[in-house]
Amino acid sequence: MNSSATSAVLPVRTGVDHAVRFSKPVLSFDQARELSRQYGTPTIVISKSTLTNTYRTMKAALPNVEMFYAAKANSDVSILRPLFQAGSSVDVCSYRELQSALLAGFSPDQMIHTHPCKTIQNLMDCYNEGVRWFTVDCSGEIDKLVRYTPDVNVILRLAAASTSSLINLSAKFGCDPVDAPALAAEAGRKGLKVRCLSFHVGSQCLNPEDFRTMLTRARLAWDQCVAAGAPLEVLDIGGGFPAPYRTGVMSLSDYCRHLSTALDATFGDLPIRIIAEPGRGMCAEAATLITRVVGKSVRGGLPWYFLDEGIYGSFSGKLFDYSDFELIAEAADVRPRSACIVAGPTCDSHDVVSTDQELPDLEVGELLLVPTMGAYTSASASGFNGLDIARVVEID
Ligand SMILES: *Cc1c(COP(=O)(O)O)cnc(C)c1O
Repeated sequence: MNSSATSAVLPVRTGVDHAVRFSKPVLSFDQARELSRQYGTPTIVISKSTLTNTYRTMKAALPNVEMFYAAKANSDVSILRPLFQAGSSVDVCSYRELQSALLAGFSPDQMIHTHPCKTIQNLMDCYNEGVRWFTVDCSGEIDKLVRYTPDVNVILRLAAASTSSLINLSAKFGCDPVDAPALAAEAGRKGLKVRCLSFHVGSQCLNPEDFRTMLTRARLAWDQCVAAGAPLEVLDIGGGFPAPYRTGVMSLSDYCRHLSTALDATFGDLPIRIIAEPGRGMCAEAATLITRVVGKSVRGGLPWYFLDEGIYGSFSGKLFDYSDFELIAEAADVRPRSACIVAGPTCDSHDVVSTDQELPDLEVGELLLVPTMGAYTSASASGFNGLDIARVVEID
Protein backbone atom coordinates (compact mmCIF):
# COMPACT_ATOMS: atom_id res chain seq x y z
CA MET A 1 0.00 0.00 0.00
CA ASN A 2 1.47 3.33 -0.93
CA SER A 3 1.43 6.31 1.38
CA SER A 4 -1.50 8.63 1.52
CA ALA A 5 -2.14 11.60 -0.69
CA THR A 6 -1.71 14.01 2.16
CA SER A 7 0.66 13.66 5.05
CA ALA A 8 -1.30 12.73 8.14
CA VAL A 9 -1.56 15.32 10.84
CA LEU A 10 -0.63 14.55 14.41
CA PRO A 11 -3.46 14.47 16.90
CA VAL A 12 -4.16 17.18 19.44
CA ARG A 13 -2.04 17.08 22.56
CA THR A 14 -3.83 15.20 25.29
CA GLY A 15 -1.25 15.47 28.04
CA VAL A 16 -1.17 11.68 28.44
CA ASP A 17 1.34 9.17 27.08
CA HIS A 18 0.20 7.30 24.04
CA ALA A 19 0.98 5.75 20.71
CA VAL A 20 -0.68 7.29 17.67
CA ARG A 21 -2.71 5.45 15.10
CA PHE A 22 -3.42 6.64 11.57
CA SER A 23 -6.13 5.70 9.14
CA LYS A 24 -5.39 2.94 6.68
CA PRO A 25 -7.34 1.10 3.99
CA VAL A 26 -8.51 -2.46 4.64
CA LEU A 27 -7.51 -3.52 1.11
CA SER A 28 -4.89 -2.88 -1.58
CA PHE A 29 -5.47 -1.22 -4.95
CA ASP A 30 -5.09 -4.62 -6.60
CA GLN A 31 -7.88 -6.00 -4.45
CA ALA A 32 -9.91 -2.85 -5.08
CA ARG A 33 -9.60 -3.28 -8.86
CA GLU A 34 -10.69 -6.89 -8.57
CA LEU A 35 -13.70 -6.02 -6.39
CA SER A 36 -14.68 -3.07 -8.57
CA ARG A 37 -14.70 -5.36 -11.63
CA GLN A 38 -17.01 -7.68 -9.76
CA TYR A 39 -19.28 -5.19 -8.01
CA GLY A 40 -18.76 -1.82 -9.67
CA THR A 41 -18.26 1.40 -7.76
CA PRO A 42 -18.87 3.03 -5.37
CA THR A 43 -18.40 0.11 -3.00
CA ILE A 44 -17.86 0.05 0.74
CA VAL A 45 -15.55 -2.81 1.69
CA ILE A 46 -15.90 -4.13 5.22
CA SER A 47 -13.11 -6.17 6.74
CA LYS A 48 -14.58 -8.57 9.26
CA SER A 49 -11.16 -9.32 10.75
CA THR A 50 -10.45 -5.61 11.31
CA LEU A 51 -13.82 -5.24 13.01
CA THR A 52 -13.36 -8.29 15.19
CA ASN A 53 -9.81 -7.23 16.11
CA THR A 54 -11.10 -3.84 17.22
CA TYR A 55 -13.69 -5.52 19.42
CA ARG A 56 -11.06 -7.82 20.93
CA THR A 57 -8.62 -4.96 21.54
CA MET A 58 -11.31 -2.98 23.33
CA LYS A 59 -12.36 -5.97 25.43
CA ALA A 60 -8.77 -6.82 26.31
CA ALA A 61 -8.08 -3.28 27.50
CA LEU A 62 -11.43 -2.95 29.29
CA PRO A 63 -12.05 -6.51 30.52
CA ASN A 64 -14.73 -5.49 33.00
CA VAL A 65 -16.74 -3.41 30.55
CA GLU A 66 -19.53 -5.02 28.53
CA MET A 67 -19.76 -3.63 24.99
CA PHE A 68 -23.12 -2.55 23.58
CA TYR A 69 -22.22 -1.55 20.03
CA ALA A 70 -24.21 1.57 19.01
CA ALA A 71 -26.09 0.45 15.91
CA LYS A 72 -26.69 4.08 14.94
CA ALA A 73 -23.10 4.32 13.63
CA ASN A 74 -23.70 1.58 11.06
CA SER A 75 -26.53 -0.93 11.30
CA ASP A 76 -25.52 -2.97 8.26
CA VAL A 77 -25.68 -6.68 8.97
CA SER A 78 -22.06 -7.04 7.82
CA ILE A 79 -21.08 -4.93 10.84
CA LEU A 80 -23.68 -6.26 13.28
CA ARG A 81 -23.16 -9.96 12.63
CA PRO A 82 -19.40 -10.17 13.24
CA LEU A 83 -19.86 -8.13 16.42
CA PHE A 84 -22.61 -10.47 17.57
CA GLN A 85 -20.36 -13.44 16.84
CA ALA A 86 -17.47 -11.81 18.72
CA GLY A 87 -19.63 -11.52 21.84
CA SER A 88 -20.85 -7.92 21.75
CA SER A 89 -24.26 -6.71 22.83
CA VAL A 90 -26.04 -3.86 21.05
CA ASP A 91 -27.53 -0.41 21.63
CA VAL A 92 -30.57 0.45 19.49
CA CYS A 93 -32.60 3.64 19.18
CA SER A 94 -35.42 2.58 16.89
CA TYR A 95 -37.45 -0.42 15.79
CA ARG A 96 -35.56 -0.64 12.51
CA GLU A 97 -32.19 -0.75 14.28
CA LEU A 98 -33.69 -3.44 16.51
CA GLN A 99 -34.80 -5.46 13.49
CA SER A 100 -31.32 -5.22 11.93
CA ALA A 101 -29.85 -6.44 15.22
CA LEU A 102 -32.32 -9.35 15.35
CA LEU A 103 -31.37 -10.32 11.79
CA ALA A 104 -27.70 -10.29 12.78
CA GLY A 105 -28.40 -12.73 15.62
CA PHE A 106 -28.81 -10.55 18.71
CA SER A 107 -31.68 -11.39 21.04
CA PRO A 108 -33.70 -8.61 22.73
CA ASP A 109 -32.07 -9.34 26.09
CA GLN A 110 -28.73 -8.33 24.52
CA MET A 111 -30.16 -4.92 23.63
CA ILE A 112 -30.58 -1.63 25.41
CA HIS A 113 -32.64 1.24 24.03
CA THR A 114 -30.83 4.54 24.43
CA HIS A 115 -33.04 7.12 22.77
CA PRO A 116 -34.04 9.60 25.47
CA CYS A 117 -37.01 10.98 23.46
CA LYS A 118 -39.03 8.12 22.05
CA THR A 119 -42.29 8.07 20.12
CA ILE A 120 -44.86 5.81 21.79
CA GLN A 121 -44.72 3.63 18.66
CA ASN A 122 -40.93 3.23 18.92
CA LEU A 123 -41.20 2.49 22.65
CA MET A 124 -43.99 -0.07 22.26
CA ASP A 125 -42.54 -1.80 19.19
CA CYS A 126 -39.20 -2.32 20.95
CA TYR A 127 -40.89 -3.28 24.24
CA ASN A 128 -43.17 -5.80 22.50
CA GLU A 129 -40.12 -7.36 20.88
CA GLY A 130 -38.65 -7.91 24.36
CA VAL A 131 -36.29 -5.00 25.05
CA ARG A 132 -36.39 -4.10 28.76
CA TRP A 133 -33.82 -1.33 29.21
CA PHE A 134 -34.96 2.17 28.22
CA THR A 135 -33.44 5.63 28.63
CA VAL A 136 -34.99 8.79 30.09
CA ASP A 137 -33.61 12.23 30.82
CA CYS A 138 -36.65 14.26 31.93
CA SER A 139 -40.07 14.05 33.58
CA GLY A 140 -41.92 13.74 30.28
CA GLU A 141 -40.00 10.59 29.35
CA ILE A 142 -40.48 9.16 32.84
CA ASP A 143 -44.22 9.61 32.37
CA LYS A 144 -44.15 7.78 29.03
CA LEU A 145 -42.55 4.76 30.68
CA VAL A 146 -44.91 4.93 33.68
CA ARG A 147 -47.90 4.91 31.35
CA TYR A 148 -46.83 2.39 28.71
CA THR A 149 -44.02 0.18 30.03
CA PRO A 150 -43.88 0.47 33.85
CA ASP A 151 -41.97 -2.78 34.35
CA VAL A 152 -38.82 -1.80 32.41
CA ASN A 153 -35.35 -1.04 33.77
CA VAL A 154 -34.67 2.66 33.51
CA ILE A 155 -31.41 4.20 32.31
CA LEU A 156 -31.11 7.81 33.47
CA ARG A 157 -28.96 9.80 31.05
CA LEU A 158 -26.75 12.57 32.36
CA ALA A 159 -25.57 15.43 30.16
CA ALA A 160 -21.80 15.49 29.73
CA ALA A 161 -19.66 18.55 29.26
CA SER A 162 -16.57 17.45 27.36
CA THR A 163 -13.85 19.55 25.88
CA SER A 164 -12.14 17.41 23.27
CA SER A 165 -15.09 15.82 21.48
CA LEU A 166 -15.82 16.88 17.92
CA ILE A 167 -19.53 16.21 18.23
CA ASN A 168 -21.52 17.27 21.28
CA LEU A 169 -24.20 14.74 22.16
CA SER A 170 -25.35 16.56 25.29
CA ALA A 171 -26.69 19.77 23.75
CA LYS A 172 -29.93 17.92 23.04
CA PHE A 173 -30.12 15.09 25.56
CA GLY A 174 -29.19 14.25 29.12
CA CYS A 175 -30.25 15.84 32.39
CA ASP A 176 -27.96 18.13 34.35
CA PRO A 177 -26.22 15.76 36.81
CA VAL A 178 -27.38 18.11 39.57
CA ASP A 179 -31.00 17.27 38.69
CA ALA A 180 -30.43 13.50 38.53
CA PRO A 181 -31.31 12.70 42.18
CA ALA A 182 -34.67 14.51 41.93
CA LEU A 183 -35.49 12.73 38.66
CA ALA A 184 -34.46 9.38 40.14
CA ALA A 185 -36.67 10.05 43.16
CA GLU A 186 -39.58 11.08 40.93
CA ALA A 187 -39.20 7.91 38.83
CA GLY A 188 -39.12 5.85 42.03
CA ARG A 189 -42.27 7.52 43.41
CA LYS A 190 -44.01 6.73 40.13
CA GLY A 191 -43.07 3.06 40.42
CA LEU A 192 -40.09 2.86 38.03
CA LYS A 193 -36.77 1.22 38.79
CA VAL A 194 -33.81 3.45 37.84
CA ARG A 195 -31.08 0.82 37.59
CA CYS A 196 -28.54 2.56 35.38
CA LEU A 197 -26.86 5.94 34.99
CA SER A 198 -25.51 6.79 31.54
CA PHE A 199 -23.70 9.60 29.79
CA HIS A 200 -22.03 10.24 26.44
CA VAL A 201 -18.88 12.37 26.45
CA GLY A 202 -19.54 13.33 22.82
CA SER A 203 -18.51 11.61 19.64
CA GLN A 204 -14.89 11.51 18.43
CA CYS A 205 -13.68 12.28 21.96
CA LEU A 206 -9.96 12.76 21.40
CA ASN A 207 -8.86 12.84 25.02
CA PRO A 208 -9.73 9.98 27.40
CA GLU A 209 -9.25 12.36 30.32
CA ASP A 210 -12.67 13.75 29.39
CA PHE A 211 -14.05 10.42 30.59
CA ARG A 212 -12.37 10.95 33.95
CA THR A 213 -13.98 14.37 34.34
CA MET A 214 -17.39 12.96 33.52
CA LEU A 215 -16.91 9.82 35.62
CA THR A 216 -16.16 12.00 38.63
CA ARG A 217 -19.42 13.89 38.10
CA ALA A 218 -21.29 10.68 37.46
CA ARG A 219 -20.02 9.20 40.73
CA LEU A 220 -21.35 12.16 42.67
CA ALA A 221 -24.72 11.81 40.92
CA TRP A 222 -24.63 8.03 41.51
CA ASP A 223 -24.24 8.38 45.27
CA GLN A 224 -26.98 11.02 45.40
CA CYS A 225 -29.37 8.89 43.31
CA VAL A 226 -28.75 5.88 45.56
CA ALA A 227 -29.44 8.11 48.58
CA ALA A 228 -32.67 9.15 46.83
CA GLY A 229 -33.70 5.50 46.69
CA ALA A 230 -32.68 4.46 43.14
CA PRO A 231 -31.69 0.77 42.89
CA LEU A 232 -28.65 1.55 40.70
CA GLU A 233 -26.61 -1.43 39.53
CA VAL A 234 -25.22 -0.48 36.08
CA LEU A 235 -22.99 2.37 34.91
CA ASP A 236 -23.17 3.10 31.17
CA ILE A 237 -20.19 5.15 29.96
CA GLY A 238 -21.60 5.62 26.44
CA GLY A 239 -19.48 5.95 23.31
CA GLY A 240 -17.06 8.56 22.08
CA PHE A 241 -14.04 6.35 21.29
CA PRO A 242 -12.29 8.17 18.42
CA ALA A 243 -11.22 6.96 14.98
CA PRO A 244 -8.35 8.29 12.84
CA TYR A 245 -9.29 10.32 9.78
CA ARG A 246 -6.80 12.76 8.22
CA THR A 247 -5.79 13.40 11.80
CA GLY A 248 -4.31 10.53 13.78
CA VAL A 249 -5.70 9.61 17.18
CA MET A 250 -4.49 7.79 20.27
CA SER A 251 -4.06 4.04 19.86
CA LEU A 252 -7.10 2.13 20.99
CA SER A 253 -5.32 0.17 23.70
CA ASP A 254 -3.71 3.30 25.18
CA TYR A 255 -7.03 5.11 25.08
CA CYS A 256 -8.82 2.25 26.83
CA ARG A 257 -6.01 1.90 29.36
CA HIS A 258 -6.46 5.54 30.45
CA LEU A 259 -10.19 5.01 30.59
CA SER A 260 -9.76 1.87 32.66
CA THR A 261 -7.58 3.75 35.17
CA ALA A 262 -10.22 6.48 35.42
CA LEU A 263 -12.95 3.88 35.96
CA ASP A 264 -10.97 2.25 38.75
CA ALA A 265 -10.39 5.61 40.43
CA THR A 266 -14.02 6.67 40.31
CA PHE A 267 -16.16 3.50 40.48
CA GLY A 268 -13.61 0.82 41.40
CA ASP A 269 -15.01 0.40 44.91
CA LEU A 270 -18.53 -0.48 43.73
CA PRO A 271 -19.61 -4.03 42.76
CA ILE A 272 -21.53 -2.88 39.70
CA ARG A 273 -21.87 -3.76 36.02
CA ILE A 274 -20.17 -1.35 33.68
CA ILE A 275 -21.22 -1.11 30.05
CA ALA A 276 -20.17 1.05 27.09
CA GLU A 277 -21.82 1.96 23.78
CA PRO A 278 -19.00 2.47 21.28
CA GLY A 279 -20.18 3.23 17.75
CA ARG A 280 -17.51 4.95 15.68
CA GLY A 281 -14.59 3.53 17.67
CA MET A 282 -15.83 0.02 16.94
CA CYS A 283 -16.75 0.16 13.25
CA ALA A 284 -15.16 3.17 11.53
CA GLU A 285 -11.81 1.64 10.62
CA ALA A 286 -13.29 -1.64 9.40
CA ALA A 287 -14.56 -0.06 6.19
CA THR A 288 -12.87 1.45 3.13
CA LEU A 289 -14.69 3.10 0.24
CA ILE A 290 -13.70 2.36 -3.35
CA THR A 291 -14.76 5.26 -5.53
CA ARG A 292 -13.95 6.08 -9.14
CA VAL A 293 -13.08 9.30 -10.95
CA VAL A 294 -15.93 9.76 -13.44
CA GLY A 295 -15.03 13.17 -14.81
CA LYS A 296 -12.49 15.98 -14.68
CA SER A 297 -12.31 19.62 -15.66
CA VAL A 298 -10.45 22.80 -14.86
CA ARG A 299 -12.37 25.57 -13.14
CA GLY A 300 -10.87 28.79 -11.84
CA GLY A 301 -7.40 27.46 -12.67
CA LEU A 302 -7.79 24.38 -10.46
CA PRO A 303 -8.29 20.79 -11.51
CA TRP A 304 -11.67 19.41 -10.50
CA TYR A 305 -12.20 15.67 -10.19
CA PHE A 306 -15.71 14.26 -10.03
CA LEU A 307 -16.21 10.99 -8.14
CA ASP A 308 -19.07 8.53 -8.27
CA GLU A 309 -19.58 9.07 -4.51
CA GLY A 310 -20.22 12.31 -2.64
CA ILE A 311 -21.73 14.01 0.38
CA TYR A 312 -25.23 12.69 -0.35
CA GLY A 313 -23.71 9.19 -0.21
CA SER A 314 -20.97 7.73 2.00
CA PHE A 315 -19.29 11.13 2.38
CA SER A 316 -22.41 12.31 4.24
CA GLY A 317 -20.26 12.06 7.37
CA LYS A 318 -18.38 15.10 6.11
CA LEU A 319 -21.58 17.10 6.51
CA PHE A 320 -23.30 15.56 9.52
CA ASP A 321 -20.28 14.28 11.39
CA TYR A 322 -17.50 16.75 10.46
CA SER A 323 -15.34 13.82 9.32
CA ASP A 324 -12.30 14.81 7.30
CA PHE A 325 -11.89 11.75 5.08
CA GLU A 326 -8.53 11.07 3.51
CA LEU A 327 -8.50 10.41 -0.24
CA ILE A 328 -5.82 7.96 -1.36
CA ALA A 329 -4.68 7.79 -4.98
CA GLU A 330 -2.54 4.91 -6.17
CA ALA A 331 -0.26 7.27 -8.09
CA ALA A 332 0.28 9.59 -5.13
CA ASP A 333 3.95 8.68 -4.89
CA VAL A 334 4.82 8.51 -8.59
CA ARG A 335 3.08 11.52 -10.11
CA PRO A 336 3.48 15.03 -8.75
CA ARG A 337 0.64 16.15 -6.53
CA SER A 338 -1.13 19.44 -6.75
CA ALA A 339 -4.01 21.32 -5.23
CA CYS A 340 -7.40 20.30 -6.58
CA ILE A 341 -11.10 20.14 -5.84
CA VAL A 342 -12.76 16.76 -5.52
CA ALA A 343 -16.51 16.73 -5.98
CA GLY A 344 -19.33 14.23 -5.70
CA PRO A 345 -21.64 13.05 -8.46
CA THR A 346 -24.83 15.03 -7.80
CA CYS A 347 -25.88 18.25 -9.49
CA ASP A 348 -25.59 20.14 -6.20
CA SER A 349 -22.67 22.62 -6.06
CA HIS A 350 -22.43 21.89 -2.37
CA ASP A 351 -21.50 18.27 -3.14
CA VAL A 352 -17.74 18.67 -2.72
CA VAL A 353 -15.71 16.12 -0.73
CA SER A 354 -12.32 17.83 -0.58
CA THR A 355 -10.83 21.25 -1.26
CA ASP A 356 -7.55 20.97 0.64
CA GLN A 357 -5.96 17.64 -0.29
CA GLU A 358 -3.25 17.50 -2.93
CA LEU A 359 -3.62 14.69 -5.44
CA PRO A 360 -1.71 13.54 -8.51
CA ASP A 361 -3.24 14.28 -11.90
CA LEU A 362 -6.03 11.71 -12.05
CA GLU A 363 -7.48 10.06 -15.12
CA VAL A 364 -11.15 9.32 -15.59
CA GLY A 365 -11.67 5.71 -14.53
CA GLU A 366 -9.01 5.70 -11.81
CA LEU A 367 -9.93 4.42 -8.38
CA LEU A 368 -9.48 6.20 -5.07
CA LEU A 369 -9.52 4.51 -1.67
CA VAL A 370 -11.05 6.25 1.33
CA PRO A 371 -10.29 4.62 4.69
CA THR A 372 -12.26 4.99 7.95
CA MET A 373 -15.57 4.80 6.13
CA GLY A 374 -17.46 2.57 8.58
CA ALA A 375 -19.19 5.00 10.93
CA TYR A 376 -21.78 7.65 10.09
CA THR A 377 -21.23 7.18 6.35
CA SER A 378 -23.62 4.70 4.73
CA ALA A 379 -25.83 5.17 7.80
CA SER A 380 -26.68 8.70 6.72
CA ALA A 381 -26.41 8.25 2.92
CA SER A 382 -29.39 9.11 0.74
CA GLY A 383 -30.39 8.30 -2.82
CA PHE A 384 -30.60 11.99 -3.77
CA ASN A 385 -30.54 12.77 -7.48
CA GLY A 386 -31.58 9.22 -8.27
CA LEU A 387 -28.17 7.80 -7.45
CA ASP A 388 -27.69 4.45 -5.76
CA ILE A 389 -26.31 4.14 -2.25
CA ALA A 390 -22.90 2.43 -2.29
CA ARG A 391 -23.11 -1.35 -2.08
CA VAL A 392 -21.42 -3.10 0.80
CA VAL A 393 -19.02 -5.99 0.29
CA GLU A 394 -17.43 -8.07 3.05
CA ILE A 395 -13.88 -9.38 2.91
CA ASP A 396 -11.88 -11.69 5.22
C1 LIG B 1 -24.36 8.05 18.98
C2 LIG B 1 -24.44 7.36 20.28
C3 LIG B 1 -23.48 6.41 20.64
C4 LIG B 1 -22.25 6.10 19.81
O1 LIG B 1 -21.38 7.16 19.85
P1 LIG B 1 -19.92 7.05 19.19
O2 LIG B 1 -19.37 8.41 19.39
O3 LIG B 1 -20.11 6.71 17.77
O4 LIG B 1 -19.17 6.02 19.93
C5 LIG B 1 -23.62 5.74 21.84
N1 LIG B 1 -24.67 6.01 22.65
C6 LIG B 1 -25.63 6.91 22.34
C7 LIG B 1 -26.75 7.13 23.26
C8 LIG B 1 -25.54 7.63 21.15
O5 LIG B 1 -26.46 8.55 20.85
